[in-house]
Amino acid sequence: MSAKSFDAIVIGAGQAGPSLAGRLEAAGMSVALIERKLIGGTCVNTGCMPTKAMVASAYAAHLARRAADYGVALSGPVGVDYQRIKARKDKVTNDARANLESWIAGMKGCTLYRGHARFESANTVRVGDDLLTAPKIFLNTGGRASVPDLPGVNDVPYLTNSSMMDLDVLPSHLVVVGGSYISLEFAQMFRRFGSEVTVIEKAPRLTGREDEDVSAAIQSILENEGITVHVGAQDIAFARQGNGIAVTFSAGKPPAVGSHVLLALGRVPNTDDLGLDKAGVEVDQRGYIVVDDQLRTNVPGIWAMGDCNGKGAFTHTSYNDYEIVAANLLDNDPRKVTDRIEAYALYIDPPLGRCGMTENAVKKSGRRALVGQRPMTRVGRAVEKGETQGFMKILADADTGEILGCSVLGPGGDEAIHSVLDLMYAKAPVSTLARAMHIHPNVSELLPTIAQDLKPLA
Ligand SMILES: Cc1cc2nc3c(=O)[nH]c(=O)nc-3n(C[C@H](O)[C@H](O)[C@H](O)COP(=O)(O)OP(=O)(O)OC[C@H]3O[C@@H](n4cnc5c(N)ncnc54)[C@H](O)[C@@H]3O)c2cc1C
Repeated sequence: MSAKSFDAIVIGAGQAGPSLAGRLEAAGMSVALIERKLIGGTCVNTGCMPTKAMVASAYAAHLARRAADYGVALSGPVGVDYQRIKARKDKVTNDARANLESWIAGMKGCTLYRGHARFESANTVRVGDDLLTAPKIFLNTGGRASVPDLPGVNDVPYLTNSSMMDLDVLPSHLVVVGGSYISLEFAQMFRRFGSEVTVIEKAPRLTGREDEDVSAAIQSILENEGITVHVGAQDIAFARQGNGIAVTFSAGKPPAVGSHVLLALGRVPNTDDLGLDKAGVEVDQRGYIVVDDQLRTNVPGIWAMGDCNGKGAFTHTSYNDYEIVAANLLDNDPRKVTDRIEAYALYIDPPLGRCGMTENAVKKSGRRALVGQRPMTRVGRAVEKGETQGFMKILADADTGEILGCSVLGPGGDEAIHSVLDLMYAKAPVSTLARAMHIHPNVSELLPTIAQDLKPLA
């Protein structure tokens, strides 16, 4: 069978693939875009969008329960209709996917193939009965939940972030194994929906990439809402117990017996069944595709973008990968991955916005640094909103004034962080932030105040 020829093949319609297909098509190229499951990938279907839609429902429930604090009288207890929460979440994701599908359908030079793609050679890919060839191939295959081979895990009906999306009953007790970003968002939202929630983490603290003070504040935010948190859990194992699932850990501790168990133990790249060996594409020990600073693999004519290359694990890093590839290929603009500054948010409530280095990373770097901090209890806007948990922290280089990093854990933290992030991109010193006039009353308003009062980092 002869192969159908294209100028470019894009495998995976996640956060980079469709946008790149659009740019290539607009530049006059013929493009084959291949997707084996749902257009929009993880973010739209089982990641950011559905979880943030559910976080919004959880916030509404939480605020309603606190109505009396604000002088608002409800005529009865707050009820949660989980089916309606799910229906709202489904509408948000279905609408987004439909918009993407119709955008792709409108691209005349782009042919969408539905099915699992595998390389047959460095420029040939098979999708079902179709054989496609192109001189340029772009991988955007993303990742999936990691399910480590823990004792008993295959004897129990565990959930992952994907199967959570289909759950149509509210768990009476959700046991979340894992204490990082995805786990904590699920933990808090289900607690707010009315489930009993237990979090079990094997590391000594939650969100181990963050500074100790950030982890501690996050743990207390969750515990204040009645979530049980176990850190430093050893020997995690699973067994059926009656109608529930027992998660045992740390000899001597009583097991957590849940109606449902969510495994949120990291992600693995979708690279094991791509036929990468047939194309000669190199992967690292964890299966991530090895790419250079402009996202080229070791095989000329093959690029990898998004979660499958291990250079980021977010929608914005995947989309930024698309921008880097497009800039290099189409705009004669040599953008590169190392131009970007690490930034992300944790969408518990209040959210954590983060950019640049943590305090621990700054200390490890050995540079002389300054630090400034302020609790949300001293931020007018947080007090006015009745949401005073959390704090803000800014780090700067003591010699050059370079802003090194920032954490904003508090109301609007996911938005406020951009004020610092953009200054970092502009390479503006911390004195620029100190002299900026911010709008009152706002959480961001306190960032200049903190910048005016930096102390040597011990
Ligand atoms: C619960 C959860 C919440 C999250 N929340 C956030 C958040 O708030 N903010 C944020 O920035 N990030 C968040 N993320 C991470 C974010 O979803 C991912 O980083 C992002 O979706 C990665 O995009 P991608 O383009 O690399 O891959 P994906 O979106 O995973 O897309 C890859 C696509 O490739 C397809 N595919 C794979 N292999 C093949 C093949 N062989 N043939 C054909 N098609 C194939 C897949 O079906 C998929 O559609 C979250 C993730 C999860 C799980």
